[in-house]
Amino acid sequence: MDSDETTIFSRIINKEVPSDILYEDEHCIVINDIAPQAPVHMLVIPKKSIPRLFDASDMDQNLLGYLLLIANKMAKQRGVDDAFRIVINNGAEAGQTVFHLHLHVLAHGSVKGRFSESDLST
Ligand code: 5GP
Repeated sequence: MDSDETTIFSRIINKEVPSDILYEDEHCIVINDIAPQAPVHMLVIPKKSIPRLFDASDMDQNLLGYLLLIANKMAKQRGVDDAFRIVINNGAEAGQTVFHLHLHVLAHGSVKGRFSESDLST
């Protein structure tokens, strides 16, 4: 699958579309999902346009690890500590709708414990 610079996430990264940016550095941005499936629902999005996780290569090894570490830091910043879930939908048949790699970070916020199915249906 080719890189597509015209996804909504590329436009958010390029500031062509407004969004609720929680964090940004040279490698990624973190935004609140526009249609949250849980009280905390952030998206960790690399600035490099990789359509799907499946399209990542060995060259992306450091970036993929970095995104997970950013997810950790954001969860801590949002006060959910170690009670969160990471979801990557890969491919349309698995529910991916935006073809620019992103990690969903889902949590109940300050409430600790198990997630309900309805909160984590992404
Ligand atoms: P996917 O289904 O590809 O795994 O996840 C795409 C996510 O992007 C969905 O949870 C959807 O709500 C979110 N999303 C789509 N468009 C926008 C947007 O314009 N702004 C934000 N903040 N999130 C979006």
